[in-house]
Amino acid sequence: MNPFVYPTKSIRRHGPIGYLDYSSYRPWLRDEFEFRCVYCLRREQWGIGVRDFAIDHFLPVLAQPDADRNYLNLFYSCATCNLRKGSRRIDDPTAPEIASALTVFETGQILGTTPAARRLIRVLDLDGPASTEFRQMWISTIRLAALYDAPLFCRLLGYPEDIPDLSVLRPPGGNRRPEGIAESAFAKRQMSELPDAY
Ligand SMILES: [Zn+2]
Repeated sequence: MNPFVYPTKSIRRHGPIGYLDYSSYRPWLRDEFEFRCVYCLRREQWGIGVRDFAIDHFLPVLAQPDADRNYLNLFYSCATCNLRKGSRRIDDPTAPEIASALTVFETGQILGTTPAARRLIRVLDLDGPASTEFRQMWISTIRLAALYDAPLFCRLLGYPEDIPDLSVLRPPGGNRRPEGIAESAFAKRQMSELPDAY
């Protein structure tokens, strides 16, 4: 099971509005982006949790001041990708045409088949030796866990323990997509519908 397959279906299902501080969107973004970095697909489960993760302003705030607290402009990203991207502009990796143009091989190597996908790889240094080795290490580890250690496999590819209960959150401006809460990981876990691995 390759954990580095970029999801090609649109993932936005929540619509909280009105927090004054963009970091208040974090629980929504964790769920929205499935507890992993939108750019390199590193998972919370592989490190020390949410402290490794940042909230990325997809369009730089300097370019567009209201981009700061616009939920649709906030992406869940690991700290490394957040730093590498900085204020540079790249195409949205959740757009189906970009996601489907990014392929990670068992060797950890990544290939972009369109100019936009290649630019994303370049800006984030996803084809640098450290990134390639990182992916290769996790692909091998997960392959071994799948063969010899089912609980470990589920821990590495499953959801974190502390998934947020979005139903108790009250965004100050309301929620444009309240129906998304039933699709959240917490709601699915309550219904015993959350998969052991994803
Ligand atoms: Zn990342």
